[in-house]
Amino acid sequence: NANSAMYSAKGVGRNNYQFYSAAMTERATRQLALQTGLRAALDNGELLLHYQPQVDCRTGRIVGVEALLRWRHPDEGMISPAQFIPVAEETGLIVPIGEWVLRTACLQAIAWQRQGLAPMRTAVNLSARQFKDPQFARRVLEILRETGLDGQFLELEITESTLMDGLDSVNAVLHDFKRAGILISLDDFGTGYSSLSYLKRFPIDKLKIDQSFVHDLLTDVSDASLVRAVIAMARALRLIVIAEGVETPGQYEFLRADGCDELQGYHIARPMPAEQVASFVARYNRR
Ligand code: C2E
Ligand code: MG
Ligand code: MG
Ligand code: MG
Repeated sequence: NANSAMYSAKGVGRNNYQFYSAAMTERATRQLALQTGLRAALDNGELLLHYQPQVDCRTGRIVGVEALLRWRHPDEGMISPAQFIPVAEETGLIVPIGEWVLRTACLQAIAWQRQGLAPMRTAVNLSARQFKDPQFARRVLEILRETGLDGQFLELEITESTLMDGLDSVNAVLHDFKRAGILISLDDFGTGYSSLSYLKRFPIDKLKIDQSFVHDLLTDVSDASLVRAVIAMARALRLIVIAEGVETPGQYEFLRADGCDELQGYHIARPMPAEQVASFVARYNRR
C-alpha cells in the first residue's frame, strides 16, 4: 500500500520517485480493475438503484424520490458511485449506464403508479458527458415513450459544470426536455463556478442546495446566511428550492421556517431499495 511504499522509499534514502511510482501504479491498477469490472457490471446485472425520498415542507408529504446508482460488486460488495461514476465518465461507459439508470427509474415510477402510490416525481442524475452524445435528447424522449412515463413525473439533475461545458448544445437539449414536461434541477448548487446569470439563461426549475451548506447550518453563521440568500433568490426567480443532506430535526425546522420548499436527507430517510419505497411513503404521509 501507499504507506509501505513511502517507508521503503525513505529507507533506501532516495528521492520520492519510488513513493510516487508505487502509489500511482496502485491507483492505475485500481482504475483499470474498476473499468473492466464496470463494463461487466452492466451486463451482469450488478447495478441497481436506491431511492431517497424528498418531502414537501408545506404539506409534510413525500413528493419525489431521487434515484441513486449502486454497484453490488461480486467480490468487493457495494461500491459507492463517488468511486465509479468518475471512471464511467472517463471511459464513456456513463452513456449506456445512464440510459440504463433512466429506463430503470422510469419503469419503477410506472410500477409505483400502477400500485396506486400517489404520483410523485422521480429524479435522475445526469453527467456532463451524456450531453456530448448527439442522440442524447432523442434517447431520453424515446425512453419516456417506451416506458409510458409522463414527462411531468421525471426530474433530471444536472450540475453547474454541465452548464459551463457546452453552452448552446446543452441549452437546446434542456429545452427539448422542458417541452416534454420534464423538470430540470441544478444539483450541488453553490459548489460550482457558474455565474448566477446561468439561472436566467438556462431553463432551470429547481435548485438543490448542496449538503455542505446544510451540515453546519445551525452553528456556522456564514452557512446560515448563504442558505437564506439562496432560498430568497430561488423564491424571487420562482424556482423550487430543496436542501440536501438534512440530518437533524434542527436543520429540518430551520430550513422549513426559512421557506425552503422541499427537503432531502437522512433525517427523512436514507436511500432505500425500490421495494421499500411504497410502504415508507404510505407510513410517512400518514404520520
Ligand atoms: P448527489 O446527486 O448530490 O446525491 C446526494 C448524495 O448524498 C447521495 O450519495 C446520498 O446518498 C447522499 N445523502 C443523502 N442524504 C444525506 C445526508 O443526510 N447526509 C449525508 N452525509 N449524505 C446524504 P451517493 O448515493 O453516494 O451518490 C453520490 C453522488 O454520485 C451523487 O451525488 C451523484 O452526483 C452521483 N450519482 C449517483 N447516482 C448517479 C447516477 O445514476 N448517474 C450519475 N451521473 N451520477 C450519479
Ligand atoms: Mg443528485
Ligand atoms: Mg447533490
Ligand atoms: Mg453530486
